[in-house]
Amino acid sequence: MKDTELHFAIAVDGPAGSGKSTVAKAVAKKLGIIYVDTGAMYRTVALHCMEKGISTKDEPAVVAALDEIQMEIQPEEGGQRIFLNGEDVTAKIRTPEIGQGASDVGVFQKVRERMVELQRNLAGSHSVIMDGRDIGTAVLPDAQIKIYLDADVDERTRRRMGELLEKGEKEEFSLLREKIIKRDENDMNRVHSPLKKARDAVLLDSTGMNVEEATQAVLDIVAEKLK
Ligand code: C5P
Repeated sequence: MKDTELHFAIAVDGPAGSGKSTVAKAVAKKLGIIYVDTGAMYRTVALHCMEKGISTKDEPAVVAALDEIQMEIQPEEGGQRIFLNGEDVTAKIRTPEIGQGASDVGVFQKVRERMVELQRNLAGSHSVIMDGRDIGTAVLPDAQIKIYLDADVDERTRRRMGELLEKGEKEEFSLLREKIIKRDENDMNRVHSPLKKARDAVLLDSTGMNVEEATQAVLDIVAEKLK
């Protein structure tokens, strides 16, 4: 199932820490398609604002700042690199604070419009697996395969803690859990493109699954849909 044979899109949505990016990267590698991490785009907008001293809750200022942002996505084996005005910010955007900032700026319709345009351009020219919050509902409503990946909040917190620990960062379990819940609430309750399962998405609960199992479950759904 290589890119040249068939053009298709896999939309993966779900709450923070549900394993979307880890699983989507593995699936992309297996199928020889491109992985697009849309959360990284919102994070990059947040990073720019935070570096410029702009509050991520200040809609007019954030929207004005969009014109200062030149964002470039470079798909690569096993992931993607993202550049903000020429600087590789792939690693820099992976903090809980920038995650919350991304959730703040993601509330604004003008921000979403700009990101969605970029995302559709990427999916227009390649077969992709794209993860985010609104991919199946808004960005790629015609995607052949839609998956809503969920997991119990305690497990999602443990996974996030593990990722942070790998970078040598420690967060208290209960605090991190609170942050995750707050971010999900923000994402699910916003007016524009809130996080929700698309009607035609397959719900996959990855609680208790390891990466290989969750990846295989997604591959099985893809194989079934493309049959
Ligand atoms: O997936 P990740 O945790 O990197 O996303 C960061 C934030 O960006 C999310 O909490 C969400 O508010 C926002 N986001 C979004 N729509 C997407 C992807 C991410 O609103 N498609």
